[in-house]
Amino acid sequence: MIDQYGRKIEYVRISLTDRCNLRCQYCMPECGIEKISHDDILSLEEVLHVVKLLADCGIRKVRLTGGEPLLRRGIVDLIREIKAIENIEQIFLTTNGVLLSNMADDLINAGVNGFNISLDTLNEKTFEKITRRNLFKKVFESIQKLIDSGVEIKLNCVPIAGVNEEDILKIVELARDNFIKVRFIELMPIGCAVDFKGIPIGEVKSKIESIYGKLISHSAFIIPNYQGPAKYFTLNGFKGQIGFIDAIDHKFCNSCNRIRLTANGFLKLCLNSNAGLDIKSLLRSNADDQKIFEAIKQAIYNKPKEHHFNVECRMQNAKLNFNAMYQIGG
Ligand code: SAM
Ligand code: SF4
Repeated sequence: MIDQYGRKIEYVRISLTDRCNLRCQYCMPECGIEKISHDDILSLEEVLHVVKLLADCGIRKVRLTGGEPLLRRGIVDLIREIKAIENIEQIFLTTNGVLLSNMADDLINAGVNGFNISLDTLNEKTFEKITRRNLFKKVFESIQKLIDSGVEIKLNCVPIAGVNEEDILKIVELARDNFIKVRFIELMPIGCAVDFKGIPIGEVKSKIESIYGKLISHSAFIIPNYQGPAKYFTLNGFKGQIGFIDAIDHKFCNSCNRIRLTANGFLKLCLNSNAGLDIKSLLRSNADDQKIFEAIKQAIYNKPKEHHFNVECRMQNAKLNFNAMYQIGG
């Protein structure tokens, strides 16, 4: 459907849990999080119910995320059922990769069209420092397995000053040697991330170009009406592509096509705003589908115009207690 600013909203990102088996320093506190009680999390039946209503509102693409979505029991059946909903065309998964190697075949058979896997470093020690867990081998095993399977994968790296700047070129090499997308995402000042300094995308590009030569724009001619947040490039001699998501300085709000559903059932309309709809309460108040459908349509219509992640409002955002990334799902 079209919102009040004329944007076509057709993509929902669903956080299935805010729990995680890693503790990335820029995302989650070391001690973990205050657990949402089981009753406050949408059941898988409720998630399915919401996706059906969202499909009626024009949603065509679904991404499951978290926390770590592969921790949610029943995820394979959920994917199969979401894929069977009329008008849902594609389903993707964003994961840290720890559990992926064992589950990949089932997930692909259930209908997952592609995977985003977080990879901030290729160095085992740095991985342990960032994630506070010694699980790099598991993640890399998953990545290798998926590359071999030929399914679409994107590796997502968040470059952070003093943390993983030495890893940028090594991660780029994965796109040189494989037909995959490697993406660099600017750190957003949310939750624990306010204590870190993200490396601006311009600096990441310069570092890459100083070694590999000029980045060659790829997005425009491969996908003519491409409107996603990432801008894709390739390099001479590379099999894969490099993507950059420069969310802070180069806003993509005017072409934003996405909404989010949090694990506790809140339809969140913008990453950087508390505007939205408490769908869980509606579902549990025995409201009929027509009423929920109308409420969802109204909420989507009112999607905020833009986010306000910039240096000036960094502190303000931190104080305003917007959801953390592990709650929103990225
Ligand atoms: N656990 C899964 C994972 O790590 O892929 C899914 C959830 S995680 C919140 C999704 C993505 O958000 C990850 O790629 C992570 O690096 C990214 N992320 C977390 N905090 C971020 C921040 N403050 N700014 C930008 N990206 C962030
Ligand atoms: Fe977990 Fe993903 Fe956050 Fe890391 S980025 S703590 S893997 S939710």
